[in-house]
Amino acid sequence: MPQYNSNTSLSYLKGVGPSRADLLKKELGIRTFGDLLNFFPNRYIDRTQFFKINQLEQNSAEIQILGKITSIKTVQQKHGSRLVATFVDDTGTIELVWFRGAKWIKENLKVNVPYVIFGKTNYFNRSFSMPHPEMELVAEYKKNLRTAMQPVYPSTEMLTNKGVSNRVVQKMIQSLFEELPGRVRETLSKPIIESHKLIAKYEALLNVHFPKSQELLTRAQFRLKFEELFFIQLQLIRKKMIRKSKIKGFTFDKVGAFFNTFYTNNLPFDLTNAQKRVLKEIRKDVGSNAQMNRLLQGDVGSGKTIVGLLCMLLALDNGFQACIMAPTEILAIQHFNSIVEMLSGMEVNVALLTGSTKAKARRMLHERLENGELHILIGTHALIEDKVKFKNLGLAIIDEQHRFGVEQRSKMWLKNELPPHVLVMTATPIPRTLAMSVYGDLDISVIDELPPGRKEVATAHRYDSNRLSVFKFMKDEIAKGRQVYVVYPLIQESEKMDYKDLMDGYESISREFPIPNYQISILHGKMKPADKEFEMQRFIKKETQIMVATTVIEVGVNIPNASVMVIESAERFGLSQLHQLRGRVGRGADQSYCILMTSFKLSADSKIRLETMVKTTDGFEVADVDLKLRGPGNIMGKQQSGVLNLKIADIVKDAGILKLVRSIAFETLQEDPSLQKEENLPLKSTYQLIHKNSGVWSNIS
Ligand code: ADP
Ligand code: MG
Repeated sequence: MPQYNSNTSLSYLKGVGPSRADLLKKELGIRTFGDLLNFFPNRYIDRTQFFKINQLEQNSAEIQILGKITSIKTVQQKHGSRLVATFVDDTGTIELVWFRGAKWIKENLKVNVPYVIFGKTNYFNRSFSMPHPEMELVAEYKKNLRTAMQPVYPSTEMLTNKGVSNRVVQKMIQSLFEELPGRVRETLSKPIIESHKLIAKYEALLNVHFPKSQELLTRAQFRLKFEELFFIQLQLIRKKMIRKSKIKGFTFDKVGAFFNTFYTNNLPFDLTNAQKRVLKEIRKDVGSNAQMNRLLQGDVGSGKTIVGLLCMLLALDNGFQACIMAPTEILAIQHFNSIVEMLSGMEVNVALLTGSTKAKARRMLHERLENGELHILIGTHALIEDKVKFKNLGLAIIDEQHRFGVEQRSKMWLKNELPPHVLVMTATPIPRTLAMSVYGDLDISVIDELPPGRKEVATAHRYDSNRLSVFKFMKDEIAKGRQVYVVYPLIQESEKMDYKDLMDGYESISREFPIPNYQISILHGKMKPADKEFEMQRFIKKETQIMVATTVIEVGVNIPNASVMVIESAERFGLSQLHQLRGRVGRGADQSYCILMTSFKLSADSKIRLETMVKTTDGFEVADVDLKLRGPGNIMGKQQSGVLNLKIADIVKDAGILKLVRSIAFETLQEDPSLQKEENLPLKSTYQLIHKNSGVWSNIS
């Protein structure tokens, strides 16, 4: 037997062998002893409880029954055959069924000998059956140590089909512990273990796989979650510290004519306190000689753009160029228009660059960018093409749903000998725990206050059967001079059907709101840009009162007089999309309304989404619920799955642990930035191991 170490291939483990090792690698990514040791149960079941057959209920979880087989038969079916055994206890009878491996099972099953069977039951034709039960002779069962917490490991259909049952996995892990020399290297430092009363690493691993008691299981889970989250935070915070100390940035130490002229003459309103605070945070960053990498969070309509603009003017005052990159062309154009308007009367050269910029205009733009004549460039991904070269880019603002790939950002850095300061603005709020995990290496600023005078959008949920009263409400509001959006879902997979829904809706609204009293605009993705613009303009000029649209209006539309948002089939929208749509109203002085129309048939999740929308207009609260419903991976997309691919911790449920370990990681690194102290050696070697093994965590700088 080769000496165990965590990199030993699993095929050397007793009872595994090459083909099983291969299967485990393919199905679960488990290759080594270490991988298996860190393969954790996703739940525990109580195997001290027995069910009587007459107590069985439909849709119960896995249960175990004590009884015996009275007869076995093979039943022919269209494809192959199935094996059926009659199983009885003193209260009733159920059928055990096997669709695969029938021959082997038939030869091994014993009749009239007591068994403990375990599995999930089906209910069909008024009787219960249990497909592919786990079976154990009572004599065997009694020999094994039983606790109330039997681990259940994640599995796949392929593993089940190939006979790698939960029991088999348990046995593998048992042999693994037999191979262990009794202890596993400690990964945390003594002071951390002691001050947080953590159990030792080996104890934790042992009890998470073979819990001796509920209390020990809880402590084991806590210790392992603590550790998992701790090392992620250690990594993120260290990355941030290294970046700050190593990557020099431009120093914007002057506040000059661009900023001051704008502030005194052009600023259309007073900044909110939150905007002022954030501006101060940014100025402190760009005034030091380190590169800024900051995330600016704020709810829809909280006024992130003006903060971005002021920062760009600061860059200009210090002799640098600035740029804004937006995720869509519509948004880039909107930024361009509003920024040009806000800068009117000032000598600032602003240009727009998108995929539709014509070659000739592009050539001129490139030239003006390189000779420094252009101050501010606004655009889409087109901005990071190789041909786009700035004379001296000092600040790059990324306005987007979520973080662009690191790769893309670093491309922007290469345009200079020093990287520009980077400000990332999110379009929708991100829950704190998620921000900590995914953006933990960035500094974060939050605008947590809306501009004054905004009235909360009143939100209601109505069923389709109430449509007439909703129409009546729309008419009343239109009579007061307001405008109304009616939005239909647009989901790629069923585009044709969605289009039909939109057109049907348009027709019924046209009937209800006839010409000449009412005029209606329509806007959807299939229209030519010029037609879209035309319809948009009619609505902006108040020539039309109703805008029937798909979600193309989700971003980039700002029409203060439109104060009613009707969302059709609201159950088909995600929470952040609903919140974004609602953000299109409530931009003027009038009371605004958002009406969520749905059918009667609603899933449990849809109900929660609708209730949340009605209950709160706070984007951070909405985002929290969204995170709970969909999980971090779905919210942040695949890009971040590295940081979010956790083995045991859950950033929603373990938010408390996350906050705790972040502060511990921070303190630890502040005291000992390169983990040189004797007591921190375990931290250092674990850190280096993780660093080496994980591509996602590799340091980009
Ligand atoms: P978002 O944070 O969603 O990008 P915007 O920057 O588009 O928000 O701002 C939303 C609206 O609020 C804009 O019309 C903007 O002019 C206005 N606004 C921003 N800040 C203030 C303020 N301090 N006072 C009044 N209106 C403001
Ligand atoms: Mg914005």
